[in-house]
Parts: sequence; structure tokens; C-alpha cells
Amino acid sequence: MLVDKFNRSFPYLRLSITEVCNFSCDYCLPDGYQKTGNENFLGQDEINRLVNAFVGLGVWKIRLTGGEPTIRKDFTQIAKMIADKPEIETMAFTTNGYRLKERAQEWFDAGLNAINISIDSLNAKKFHQITGHNRMQEVRDGIDKALEVGFKKVKINVVLLKGVNDDELDSYLEYVRDTPVSVRYIELMQTGDNLTYFNKFHLSSDHVKDQLLDRGWVENIRNVGDGPAVNFTHSDFQGSIGLIAPYSKDFCTGCNRLRITSSGDLRLCLFGNVGIPLRHMLQSDEQKDDLMAAIRKQLEYKASSHFLNDGDTGIMTNLSSTGG
Ligand code: SAM
Ligand code: SF4
Repeated sequence: MLVDKFNRSFPYLRLSITEVCNFSCDYCLPDGYQKTGNENFLGQDEINRLVNAFVGLGVWKIRLTGGEPTIRKDFTQIAKMIADKPEIETMAFTTNGYRLKERAQEWFDAGLNAINISIDSLNAKKFHQITGHNRMQEVRDGIDKALEVGFKKVKINVVLLKGVNDDELDSYLEYVRDTPVSVRYIELMQTGDNLTYFNKFHLSSDHVKDQLLDRGWVENIRNVGDGPAVNFTHSDFQGSIGLIAPYSKDFCTGCNRLRITSSGDLRLCLFGNVGIPLRHMLQSDEQKDDLMAAIRKQLEYKASSHFLNDGDTGIMTNLSSTGG
């Protein structure tokens, strides 16, 4: 198992397979994806070698992300290739949900078993305004389909935005009353290119926490190995609510994940100052030991926390470029 000098272990890899996205979320790609000339993303063989090395280092959970990962024509093949490895217990992906309804069955059959779907508003007009797409109902239908075909771990990501969707808690609560999904409010994070937006729309998740407690929701006790979300449950509701507060004290003490960008750079932290290129070590199966040694070595440099509270976003320009 990979363990860093702060005694954190890393069973979880977030693997970006493309920077491209078809949505234009205000906080991420407000003008939509613009070509950078850097669209030569890792191929299936390279991804396979990379995953084999991480599996050799004890990784058992992988999330495919991006950009919009499902945009890749070989998304299902990549997912299946990884899910078929017996060591992988959780094969997850994060999606804007735009093709979920049609393809949920195919993706479930490929071995994907956990899914995060972004849905920043349950109000169709607002959803359209935030994402640039009038597809709220389509995405919701996709979530129903995912549950129907058998996905057990379904999470809904909601980026909390002051004055935009901060009045929608009751709609989400109504939604989780009978729907067994976990809605997770994510505090808006500053990135390299969204400072003005961040200053205008960032809101602490305490805003949601206070309302949950007022409504009788209970904060669950955190266990070692839990991710960064603080979870709340209520006996009258099938689903749950999670809060992800990257600006809170101790957010990084439970960090359990590493990231790979779509061109094969290792990122020790979403907001780190370096990307460590690994692609040259993904060119043949014989490089596996060197690759594993390089990853182990790099982990020695993982910092105890990010420096977001000082406005330092590292080299990340937006989450689509690094992999959210
Ligand atoms: N395209 C997919 C999607 O939107 O679900 C996957 C990639 S996206 C970058 C992953 C997650 O990051 C989404 O839930 C998105 O809302 C979130 N995200 C993007 N930019 C963010 C920001 N600046 N602060 C907080 N969350 C952000
Ligand atoms: Fe695309 Fe996801 Fe970024 Fe929205 S948050 S623009 S869907 S990558």
C-alpha cells in the first residue's frame, strides 16, 4: 500500500481520460472547452500499464473523470479493461450525465459500480443557466435509469453557489426522501481562472449544515478511510446528504487519493504546484517496476495540505484540465 510521511494511505486513483467537455459550467469552463493542442490523451495500452502499476501499489478504487469522460468513444472499453482486474473493488466515474439514460445498462454491464452525477440545480432554468444545457430532466431520467439497472453507489454532486442554488436544499431533500442516492454539496473552489467568479459565488457549506441540523438531520460519525465528505442522514429519508468543504480545517488529513491527468502526469494534490510526467514510463510492460518505484518516490513529496486558504491554487487552471 502507498503511504505518505503523514501516515495517509492511497488506495484511490482518480484518472482523467480527457480534458474535453461538452458542457460549459460557469465555474469550470464558462466558454466551453477550447482546444489547447494538447488533445493527445492517454491511449488504452498506456492506461492499462498505468493501472497495473497502481494496482501493484495497492490501489483498489479507480474513478474515471475528466473533462467529460463519457465523451471518449472508447469509454466503455477503458472501464471494462480496468473493472476486469480482480484487485479493483470500486470502479467509479464522474459524469455530467448527458448520455446516462441511453447507456447506463452498457456501463453497468462493463463493470462500473459507482457513479457520481453532477446536477447543480433541480430547477430546469437554473440548470440551463449554470451548465449551458437545457438537460436537467434528461440527467434526472439518467439517474433513475442508473438505479434501475442496478448501480448501488449513486452520488449527486452539487456545487454550492451563493445566490444561485443556495435556496434549493428543500428540493434536494424532497428528492432523497424516496431516492436512495447521496447528494453531496461541494463548496466552490478557487481555480487558476475563476477568481472573480469564486469571489462572487463562494459560500461556506455551514449554510447547508445549519439548515440540515434545524431539520433534524444527524451528522454521522466519521470512520478512518472515509473520504472528505461529512455525511448527514435522517430516518425518514432513503438518501443522504454529504458536505465537502475543502476550506475547512483538517480537510486534507483524510486525503486518500492521487490523480493522473489525461496526458499522464501524476498530481499529488488537486492544487499542487507540480505535475510529474509518467507517460514516458507507460510505453512498454517492462517499465512497470520503474514506474512503481517512481510513484513511490514521488509520494515522499506530498504536502500535508493544500494552500487554498491563501488563494494558492497551484498549477490547476480549472477542474476539467486536471480531472475533477
Ligand atoms: N464532467 C464531469 C462532471 O461534471 O461531473 C466530470 C468532471 S467535473 C470537473 C467533476 C466535478 O467537479 C463536478 O461535480 C463539478 O461540478 C466539480 N467542479 C468543477 N469545478 C469546480 C470548482 N471550481 N469547485 C468545485 N467543484 C467543481
Ligand atoms: Fe464539463 Fe464537468 Fe467542467 Fe461542467 S464541471 S464544464 S460538465 S468538466
